[in-house]
Amino acid sequence: MKKKVIIIGGGIAGLSAGVYAQKCGFDVTILESHSIAGGNCTSWRRGEYLFEGGMHWLTGSGKEEALYKSWCYIGALGDNVVVHNDEPFIEYIHNGKSVYIYRDVNKTERHLLDISPEDAKQIHWLCDKIRSIKNLSMPITDVRGVKVTKKMKMPLSLLFSAMSSLRVIKEVTKLSREAFISSIQHTGIQELIRAFSDDVGGILPMLFTFGTLARGDGGFPEGGSLPFVNRIVKTFTAMGGELLCNTRADKVLIENGKAVGVIACGKKLSADAVIVTADTMAIDHLFDVPLKAKWLNKMKEVTSPTMGIFISLGINSDLKKYNKSLTFKLKMPIKFSNQRYDYLSIYNYANNSAYSPNGKSAVTLMLGGDTYDFWKKAKKENCYEDEKKNIADAVVTALSAQFPEIRGNIEIVDVATPLTYERYCANWKGSWMTDMKPGKGMKKYPAVIKGIKGVYFAGHRMMPPGGLPVALVSGREAVQYLCRDTNTLFVSED
Ligand SMILES: Cc1cc2nc3c(=O)[nH]c(=O)nc-3n(C[C@H](O)[C@H](O)[C@H](O)COP(=O)(O)OP(=O)(O)OC[C@H]3O[C@@H](n4cnc5c(N)ncnc54)[C@H](O)[C@@H]3O)c2cc1C
Repeated sequence: MKKKVIIIGGGIAGLSAGVYAQKCGFDVTILESHSIAGGNCTSWRRGEYLFEGGMHWLTGSGKEEALYKSWCYIGALGDNVVVHNDEPFIEYIHNGKSVYIYRDVNKTERHLLDISPEDAKQIHWLCDKIRSIKNLSMPITDVRGVKVTKKMKMPLSLLFSAMSSLRVIKEVTKLSREAFISSIQHTGIQELIRAFSDDVGGILPMLFTFGTLARGDGGFPEGGSLPFVNRIVKTFTAMGGELLCNTRADKVLIENGKAVGVIACGKKLSADAVIVTADTMAIDHLFDVPLKAKWLNKMKEVTSPTMGIFISLGINSDLKKYNKSLTFKLKMPIKFSNQRYDYLSIYNYANNSAYSPNGKSAVTLMLGGDTYDFWKKAKKENCYEDEKKNIADAVVTALSAQFPEIRGNIEIVDVATPLTYERYCANWKGSWMTDMKPGKGMKKYPAVIKGIKGVYFAGHRMMPPGGLPVALVSGREAVQYLCRDTNTLFVSED
């Protein structure tokens, strides 16, 4: 008899755990409360437009990456999946002129030197730092004590990269964002750095992003989130895995310190093990006896949510002449809730026919920041829809000032607030990643709790800052713990 495993949540972590567990010979059912799998990795259709709401760039999409093998293993990527590495990665529009960041760091360096030779010293410094950290990619490792068909070894080159990166991290962490910006003369470059970093995190997260791109990673798989998810679902179900959508898990059943099943939609489903991939910050309600673990306390203490208001626009205007990723400074900042927005960064899908009919354009943007309480209050006071309209109007006015051709041509306006994310994915505060903050203990959390057998945890919260690669790897790790505890051979990637 195969051992029965129930996975709570059919996001990328749940699907990843599902495929790995099936491959290791378990009989797996995934319970997903939404009508489709994917969780935050999703897109949605409104009228003639498709809005890409999850994947913008994917770590591990480069063929040289250790993660690439894992994405292929679960069926998300493969030889038949085209990955786009659009250039430039960023266009910052400054007083009508553009400042570019390319994936190719040498090209970025040449371009920045071209527009601001007087900043040569700072430009070389910046690009050298990107080069120094660019080879620090996410390793795939095995948990201690698990038997595997093939051991994952950390390549020596990665150890050397890690050592050189540590030096850079130390140096850059000491430098405040404003101190670096004030050493630059070109206001366009200054503003670009300001738009892509923040006071607290400084410029390090931005350098990591540029480093990922510089080593040929961080592409966009053709079709985006939905086809990506559907390919994993296909892999999972083709192996006999069962995906139950519209099925919310209400309780994990624990008897004598061991998981025995799940209550979902009023029914008891028996299982030998349960993998919980719902947001670890919001799972207390799943357990009758409160979970106790030092790492859970730590997570609750230090987690700072990445979240925002996601606005999608269907525009009856052809924006093909513009780049996919555009950022500009607002003439008048948008003040909304407790936030102030000085810049807008948009994704323009006009050049991809999957997203809008020819001659029309799908545009999306995220207004970051914690506005959760504001929306909760608006809901309570019956002005939620009015506030959605207010923020959408402010954004449309700002965009129309920058791109006059969209004025009067907006056909679809779709606003997703943190409450939308909470409703669809049950995420804590509607947050789908974790902010990287210096000194906040950014280590990986364990997938298990001492004293409870047969319960494993996975998902984006398990290793800040989270995102798709962490969802993938945490699903894999949860299954490795399961294999270790059940003396099952873990079937590794080739
Ligand atoms: C606008 C936006 C842009 C992003 N861009 C990127 C990007 O470019 N690159 C990147 O790497 N990441 C990106 N992310 C983040 C990434 O999408 C998420 O971190 C990742 O998808 C999280 O996957 P997960 O499986 O851990 O969690 P989730 O996606 O939250 O999945 C959890 C699933 O569990 C289900 N669930 C919860 N509770 C229950 C229950 N009780 N019973 C049954 N089902 C339940 C939910 O419905 C959900 O489907 C972005 C996210 C957003 C919103």
